[in-house]
Amino acid sequence: MDTEATSLTPRPSFRSRALATEAVHAGRDDLASQGLHAAPIDLSTTYPSYDSRGEAARIDAFATTGARPDGPPVYARLDNPTTARFETALARLEGAASAVAFASGMAALTAVLLARASLGLRHVVAVRPLYGCSDHLLGAGLLGTEVTWTDPAGIAEAIRPDTGLVMVETPANPTLAEIDIRAVAHSCGSVPLLVDSTFATPVLQRPLEHGARIVLHSATKYLGGHGDVMGGVVACDEEFAATLRQVRFATGGVLHPMAGYLLLRGLSTLPVRVRAASASAAELARRLSVDPRVARVHYPEVGGAMVSFEVFGDPHRIIAGVRLITPAVSLGSVDTLIQHPASISHRIVDEGDRRAAGVSDRLLRMSVGLEDIEDLWADLCQALSDGGAVPAARPGKASLPGEAALSGEAPLPGGAPLSGAPTGATAHLSGSPVPSPATRTAEREPRRAGR
Ligand code: PLP
Repeated sequence: MDTEATSLTPRPSFRSRALATEAVHAGRDDLASQGLHAAPIDLSTTYPSYDSRGEAARIDAFATTGARPDGPPVYARLDNPTTARFETALARLEGAASAVAFASGMAALTAVLLARASLGLRHVVAVRPLYGCSDHLLGAGLLGTEVTWTDPAGIAEAIRPDTGLVMVETPANPTLAEIDIRAVAHSCGSVPLLVDSTFATPVLQRPLEHGARIVLHSATKYLGGHGDVMGGVVACDEEFAATLRQVRFATGGVLHPMAGYLLLRGLSTLPVRVRAASASAAELARRLSVDPRVARVHYPEVGGAMVSFEVFGDPHRIIAGVRLITPAVSLGSVDTLIQHPASISHRIVDEGDRRAAGVSDRLLRMSVGLEDIEDLWADLCQALSDGGAVPAARPGKASLPGEAALSGEAPLPGGAPLSGAPTGATAHLSGSPVPSPATRTAEREPRRAGR
């Protein structure tokens, strides 16, 4: 049993430790004083107490304040010490006062929307693209909220007296478009800005330092990091965290303690994983940007392990052609995943809205893992070749080793023209500092990420 009570005084916490140190130690500062090394897992759903009056007082206190109850938890939907360790650690990594964990990223977003709507603030201003289900949750008004979609420049104008939240994703899923968090936070005035920072993780970006008030992660992705745990987490000030805990208790979207344990463990390797995968992703982005089978590459300035690219060939055949890379939705695992957003992660978004947000039918999104980069490149190369068409050769254009003569762009199965599909033969590397080889840079102009 993981009890917070100990006869030994916990060692003091260190206030200015580096991120890599926090990743390994945060949420565990009391372990040594308890004679423990690994964090214990408390799977209890309920907690015995012979003191009903005391329990009543703790329940009243929680209902009034939303603060984590003192003493042993009452019931697992209210609080769990293993999950609390992950919350403490994530809050430290984000530089937040508090964090509240949920059963999934969507449960976390749901709680945020309900918390604001419970104050009568039902209007949300949001910038596309967002992850497909986040877009759907806002657009469909499932929780009684109403959304105004805008670009970053239109945020101030879109805010109304009943606006409870401004929501952005940066880098955005799946185009990796980036948003200037500080500028957007300024436009929000007193309305809290929520940044979904799932793709960046606190290793690359700490939105609270730039004026955001709420940071959301699908913990299912990089925080867990191994594709075997689902969770979501919100980092924010303690006042909002208290409301979120009350919403979580009322609606039940709690993180299972086993997931809390795995997420805490995942955090300890987060900086190493993110930096290693990011280095491979930047190099793959560079190679793709000079590949004649690729029309456009998106790689964010902030870096990270996600690369998106638009292809001249059939994206479905490329997905079917990978052998080492796993053709699967989701991201942030130790292994590399690839998916076709228009078919999967963003399928639920209206086709017109999807394309207007830059999600072309020829876009593929790749989450780069920790495999050897040459193995990844070899797999990607053969899958791109399986995908078929490349644009007509231009003078001086070098073909890849073993590649057949360059041909024109092939239609996708079904033959319908694709709006939003690339028409030119120029690849763009969105906002990436990745250099192209000197011989090819003239043909392929790097482009700054759309903001
Ligand atoms: N936010 C982003 C950026 C995502 O990519 C996802 C899922 O892919 C979510 C939120 C939702 O997270 P979950 O699948 O954990 O509910």
